[in-house]
Amino acid sequence: MKQIALICLGLFGCSAAGEGPSVVIPPLTLSPEGIDYALVQDAAERWEQATGLPLLVQAGGAPVRYAPMSYDKNSGETAVHWRSDGPTEILWVHIDERRAHNQSLVGHILLHETGHAVCEHGILGQTEDNCHSGSGLLHRTVVGEPCIDAASLATVCGYRDCQTFSPEC
Ligand SMILES: [Zn+2]
Repeated sequence: MKQIALICLGLFGCSAAGEGPSVVIPPLTLSPEGIDYALVQDAAERWEQATGLPLLVQAGGAPVRYAPMSYDKNSGETAVHWRSDGPTEILWVHIDERRAHNQSLVGHILLHETGHAVCEHGILGQTEDNCHSGSGLLHRTVVGEPCIDAASLATVCGYRDCQTFSPEC
């Protein structure tokens, strides 16, 4: 069975999902395409520091780019390929092309979507509420400050084998 799902950041809800155990997996690799490399690097470094999990920003990984949204109310979307016979794969990260003029907001959306990518990367099975948290950065809407808070980090580390637990706020 194969299932491809969108993990989204929007004004309305995304579909819920199950959960699975974490496994030893290669580093998540993000590949900026037409989007500010420094913004992607910043999001990757911050999640790496918060979780202790390696993140690479280089060619050959999941493309990170501006794109039209699958659902009009979304600001960002991360596509995850769930497989019943192996760990999940991050296919791409899309940032709403309509937000490109606002680099501060793009940075916020990138930090949120990178959290999804870290949370979903390489796990077996689907995550509850697509790795959204009840509050903070990984709330399903853009709220608050763009920082990796304890609630959001706890959600990610509930699926991934975090090597540290270092929230920014
Ligand atoms: Zn989201």
